[in-house]
Amino acid sequence: MHLFQRTADLQTFLRNTRTHNRSLGFVPTMGALHAGHFRLIERALQQDQIVVCSIFVNPTQFNNSDDLKRYPRTPGKDLEALARVGCTAAFLPSVEEIYPTGTTFKRSLDFAGMDQRMEGAYRPGHFTGVAQVVHRLLAIVEADRLYMGCKDFQQLAIVQSMIRQLALPVQVVGVPTVRETDGLAMSSRNALLSKTARAAAPAIYQTLRAAAERLRAGTPPEEVQEWAREQLAQASLRPEYFEIVDQVRLEPVKKTTDPHNWVICTAVWAEDVRLIDNLPVAELA
Ligand code: AMP
Repeated sequence: MHLFQRTADLQTFLRNTRTHNRSLGFVPTMGALHAGHFRLIERALQQDQIVVCSIFVNPTQFNNSDDLKRYPRTPGKDLEALARVGCTAAFLPSVEEIYPTGTTFKRSLDFAGMDQRMEGAYRPGHFTGVAQVVHRLLAIVEADRLYMGCKDFQQLAIVQSMIRQLALPVQVVGVPTVRETDGLAMSSRNALLSKTARAAAPAIYQTLRAAAERLRAGTPPEEVQEWAREQLAQASLRPEYFEIVDQVRLEPVKKTTDPHNWVICTAVWAEDVRLIDNLPVAELA
């Protein structure tokens, strides 16, 4: 596997490698890689001849400097695993490499309020930072396909909207959430959980599933929301939000619409670790 820290070096390599119409798949990450990330890489390797994975803890999407400091970093282990699975190139740029003129310039995009709700409401500026870094990375890598996880449902919707607004020539592939055997969505932040918090965390997915069942059975969304918050609290989790929104606009649902188009999104605190998860109601097996 090839390792790059500089944009120019990666671009030279890609220019020389992208011959014979070989397609390029790109998987942007913040590192501390787990099986969820590797599912994205696998998917990319199935479809594309060249696969680039970036590891960059993007400061502009963190609204809390402690969170940024605490974010797990395991570059040695990550690179070993990426080489093992057959990733073509890893890109580990510095902050200066990604933001050569500083971090303040942000293109203004119109997400029609989608960036203001849920994660956007609790992490002001988060999605502006996400859009900024994905745009910059795409400008560097010029990928044919961009692989992202449905685990970050709202992020995926925002990135898709950005790509449409800027008419970027890249196809987005959304990859279903990879979970631990007890249902907890894999996340780099899981490494920060204490034993007690880890034991409580599976209640997130259990509650999402039970809520989806209730919605399908016709229980009104507000009632399900209230019930779910109680369930989470009983499991010693502190829900920040538990929202039932439509899959396309991410707006709170009207109960007259079809639950199969709804997705349940939640953010909870397990002690001092913030976890997010979601479940499209239609996906309930
Ligand atoms: P992150 O390193 O957390 O920024 O995640 C990088 C990419 O991996 C994003 O597109 C995430 O949505 C995706 N991802 C993270 N966790 C999972 C998971 N459990 N299953 C599927 N994709 C994931």
